Amino acid sequence: MEVEAATLAALVPSWSSVLLLFSYLGYLAFAALVLPGKVVPGAVLPDGSRLRYPCNGLLALFLLLALMVTGAYMEWMSITVIADKGLELLSSTFIFSLFVSLVLYAAGSSSRSQSSSLKPHVTGNFIHDWWFGVQLNPHFMGVDLKFFLIRAGMMAWLLINLSVLAKSYLAGTVNISVILYQIFCAVYVIDYFYYEEFMTSTWDIIAERLGFMLVFGDLVFVPFTFSIQGWWLLKNEVELPKVAAAASFLVFVIGYRVFREANKQKYVFKKNPKADIWGKPPKVIGGKLLASGYWGISRHCNYLGDLILAFSFSLPCGASSVIPYFYPIYLFILLIWRERRDEARCSQKYKEVWVEYCKLVPWRIFPYVY
Ligand code: NDP
Repeated sequence: MEVEAATLAALVPSWSSVLLLFSYLGYLAFAALVLPGKVVPGAVLPDGSRLRYPCNGLLALFLLLALMVTGAYMEWMSITVIADKGLELLSSTFIFSLFVSLVLYAAGSSSRSQSSSLKPHVTGNFIHDWWFGVQLNPHFMGVDLKFFLIRAGMMAWLLINLSVLAKSYLAGTVNISVILYQIFCAVYVIDYFYYEEFMTSTWDIIAERLGFMLVFGDLVFVPFTFSIQGWWLLKNEVELPKVAAAASFLVFVIGYRVFREANKQKYVFKKNPKADIWGKPPKVIGGKLLASGYWGISRHCNYLGDLILAFSFSLPCGASSVIPYFYPIYLFILLIWRERRDEARCSQKYKEVWVEYCKLVPWRIFPYVY
């Protein structure tokens, strides 16, 4: 009972957690506007327009890490502040995401814009419109909000992990499981920012409207639940045999390769449909769809790679509990659902070309299984 009361008390947002959250978001907005970076044109929208995305996330991340390390060294802040305020930050971010989604709903519904990115799609069902959003690409003071929120969530995941790692270090519980988990996630997040421009052609950016689902998903769900393994390892010591550590590493490398290469192949193909895939001219269907490389193995081999990667993030935690497996289980459900939605979208967009692609590449995600 006492533990439950303490947890509930820790969930009450404090002013310092609100300040921390706003400082973080303020820094990211400032960084997005002023830091140099490649400006990448987004997908062509139905009205022929294209948004432009400044991809300076990697620089923003490294600069923030440098500022935080300096702050901790100068004793202006504690290196474990994020982990120490974990629950307060969770509730503050949740309340903030509720607020943002309501503002997005109100501003979006009253917009008179007819452009593809801002035209409101209002069904009249408040829950539906608030949940899924009404505008495709709303922006604020020149910052594309969807791109910004995804960036905020991915970066926060790494910051939470590093703060938990610092706590582990101070508690003397750093072991091979902690090191592997931390390395795998850090590589994934840094890789995300290294290839941030690839994000401009993904489903979230090109097809999903910005409502509570994405705001909550990016700001709350990604950083606070994807880091569960780190928190779990703080409380549970795992003695990982060397062979299990090596197997986790191998699974990570395989997952990373499939995930990164599949996404890269599609991105390169969209830019130059004649570019070689695996050293050969690409197999193209109807001049529009790539059917070679990973895209000839299954129709969403990138999801397969991501699922293998997600599994590798949990393997260092061993098999004594299902809790560290939350992320791969969640991702499995999400990607199966998303693949169905993407399939419906592509089938409507590409019509008989999509039918031909499905005949040639019958597997949705897992070759010979699904
Ligand atoms: P994709 O990057 O696979 O984008 C799907 C779109 O790609 C389709 O709508 C279509 O759009 C185009 N496309 C599909 N097949 C082909 C083809 N054969 N040739 C050419 N174009 C094709 O999907 P997502 O945005 O969902 O995923 C991107 C990455 O992000 C994935 O690796 C996924 O695993 C990861 N992800 C991770 C999440 C997490 O929580 N960790 C959550 C969601 C995604 P078009 O109209 O442009 O042709």
